[in-house]
Parts: sequence; structure tokens; C-alpha cells
Amino acid sequence: MKQVTIIGSGIVGAVTAYYLSNDPNISVTIYDEGIGQATKNSAGIISPWLSKRRNKRWYELAKAGAALYPEIVADTQMGYSVYQQAGTIVTREDPADLEDLYQLALARRQKAPQMGTIEKLTASEVQERLPLLTAPQPGVFVSGGARVDGDKFAHNLLKYAEKRNLVRHKGKVSLGDQGQLLTSHGQQSYDTLILAVGAWLKPLLLPMRLVAKVRPQKGQLIELQLPQTWGDSVPVLMPEGERDFIPFTRNKLVVGATHEDDQGYDLQVSPLVEEDLFASGKKLDDNLTTDQITQVKVGTRAYTPDFAPFFGPLPDTPDILVASGLGSSGLTTGPMIGKLLADYVQTGQHDWDQYQLPIENYLEEAD
Ligand SMILES: Cc1cc2nc3c(=O)[nH]c(=O)nc-3n(C[C@H](O)[C@H](O)[C@H](O)COP(=O)(O)OP(=O)(O)OC[C@H]3O[C@@H](n4cnc5c(N)ncnc54)[C@H](O)[C@@H]3O)c2cc1C
Repeated sequence: MKQVTIIGSGIVGAVTAYYLSNDPNISVTIYDEGIGQATKNSAGIISPWLSKRRNKRWYELAKAGAALYPEIVADTQMGYSVYQQAGTIVTREDPADLEDLYQLALARRQKAPQMGTIEKLTASEVQERLPLLTAPQPGVFVSGGARVDGDKFAHNLLKYAEKRNLVRHKGKVSLGDQGQLLTSHGQQSYDTLILAVGAWLKPLLLPMRLVAKVRPQKGQLIELQLPQTWGDSVPVLMPEGERDFIPFTRNKLVVGATHEDDQGYDLQVSPLVEEDLFASGKKLDDNLTTDQITQVKVGTRAYTPDFAPFFGPLPDTPDILVASGLGSSGLTTGPMIGKLLADYVQTGQHDWDQYQLPIENYLEEAD
């Protein structure tokens, strides 16, 4: 029996555990203080196809990750409150920009059938789809776009895996200089160790004299509970120059998120940022009131210098795999990264050039 130990139960750790859970020759253990820090505080938009990012490897990874959701959700029978392909609308005020976006969507759909139906909508058609809006703009609708509750998604996958071969432990771990796994119950052995620790990879690897080129970025968003309810089919709005507007099932609305580069690992709610997020929401729906805010969520994203994720075995310690740098689209790329890591654990083979640059680009030896 092969012992695979995963540190971190965010989207990467949970999906990896899920894909390993049907292997009778593997036992899996996860350590974390809770459930994925960034994962549980994320906005939940899965819609990578209209991104202007030029990084083709990132796009392939994100496209593949978005395509995995419907499969995983069907296999584990998760409901609409966890994941729903209600579509996404990306708005543009300038008609020429809107047409460019529409043409980009049509071109990308040729190699991404999961995008579904694509429609160019007038401002009033946008409002018909999203009656909450009081100041709609014209936009492009992509029916395959989705929203996911990262917390519930990871939670469901871990529960699924726990019924098979997963054991979970609460707590923080550290590493020794040779990669020894040190827990509150002493040193633990493993055959393969997977560090799915998001923004915390740098401090975790330092005892091994390795510096991961990852920095933390603070992200905040607000959740509101509105007096009216809506069905499951209300799309997500990604407005031009504003925060995203994500109606979840029934009456929960999320507005966010911020990208704060100078706050390190701080998880305090900032009242000024809360006000700013509310003002963003209010520009879209003038009926919002501050007393409808039920929660401000704060998460820490992991960024690499080229904004791309990386994953795989450490060059000189191949029994330790790492994954980090998922940035602001980690709920989208995370499922594919988890699947690729699980495949590698099971086969010892990988062919990841289409998805990332060599992992050496993101690691250096400590002085
Ligand atoms: C506000 C916000 C909004 C976002 N919105 C979106 C979105 O709409 N769409 C999208 O695709 N992405 C979004 N993201 C990005 C996405 O949430 C992240 O990229 C992704 O969740 C990262 O997953 P992860 O598994 O790498 O890390 P995490 O989810 O952070 O999980 C890592 C886990 O490792 C644990 N850990 C760390 N060190 C240790 C240790 N020493 N011992 C034990 N456990 C440890 C941590 O406790 C943590 O739970 C958003 C992020 C934020 C913050």
C-alpha cells in the first residue's frame, strides 16, 4: 500500500484526494487547519475563455479545469448550490470592444465546446437575464460559464474521499531539512508527499533550503442577502472596470474581489475596502443597502512572478510534489492540477509542457 500524504485541503488538495480515492493500492492522509484558505473565500467564477491573458499554457490548464467540473459534479452528485452552469455575461460599453469580445468567444469556442451557446446581448437583454441590475451594459453571454462555492465543493470531495481511502488530520505541519514531515504527533513517514499549500509554499519549503517564488495577495469580497429570491439560472456578471457580481442560488449575492498586493498574509477585514466593494455593487444594483451585507470574506492568493501556476515533483526530491501560484483563477485551474498530480502519483509519468513552464523556473536555492 502506497502512503500519499497531502498538505492543504484547498481545491488542489481536495481534487487530488478525490482522484486518488478510487485506487485500492493507495492510502491518503491530508493535513490542514481547516479547508483551503483561498478556496473557501473565493468568488467562484469559472469562465476562463474570454480572458485577454496571452499565456497559452495557462489558458490550456484553465480550459481543461473548467471542463472537469461537470464531470466531477455528476460523479459525486453535487447539487446546484455547489456548482451551476448558469452562464456568464462579460460587458463592454464600446460597441467595437463588444464585437471584438464576441468574435473572440466564437473563435475560442471552436476548441472549447464546453463554452456552449454564445450570444451578443443588448443592455436590456442583459437586464432581462439579470433583473437585479439597475444599470446594465451590453455584453457577451457564454452559457457554459459557471459559479462554484469553493468551500462546499472542496468539502464534498473530501467527504467523498473519506468514504474510501482518505484520513484527515487537523493541524499545521512543517518540514525538516531533508523533507521529513513534522506534525504535532511527531515525524510521519510517507511514500509521496504533496504540498498543496497555496500561498504558504515559500515558508514551508525554506527548511529544505528552497525558495519558492510565490508571494501572497490579499483578496476581499462581500456577501449580501437580498429580500427577493431568484432561480438557479441567473448568470454571473463580469462587468467592465467593476467588481464581479455573482448571484448564487436563492438570494445570496457576492460582489468582489479586491487584489491587494501590499498586505502580506493579513486576514483582517478592512472597513474601507468593504465600503468600496459595496459602492461597486451599488453601481450595478442601485437598490442594494449596507444592512444586506452578511459577510466579508478574506482570502490569500498565491502569485508567481509570471502569474502562472506551477506543479510537480521537486527536481532533487522527486517524492515531494508541490503546487502553487494559482493566483486569481485557481478555482478554474485547480481541478486540472489536482487531476494531473493524481495521475502522476499513479503512473509516475507526466507530459505537462502544454500546461506550464519547467518547475525550476519557480524555485531557487536559499543563500
Ligand atoms: C477573494 C478571492 C476571490 C477569488 N475568486 C476566484 C474566482 O472567482 N475564480 C477562480 O477561479 N479563482 C478565484 N480565486 C482564486 C482561488 O480561490 C485560489 O487560486 C485557489 O483556491 C487556491 O487553491 P489552493 O488549493 O492552491 O490553496 P488554498 O485554497 O489556499 O489551500 C491551501 C491550504 O493549505 C493549508 N496550509 C498551508 N500551510 C500549511 C501547513 N504548514 N500545514 C497545514 N496546512 C497548511 C492552508 O491552511 C490552506 O487551507 C479567488 C481567490 C480569492 C482570495
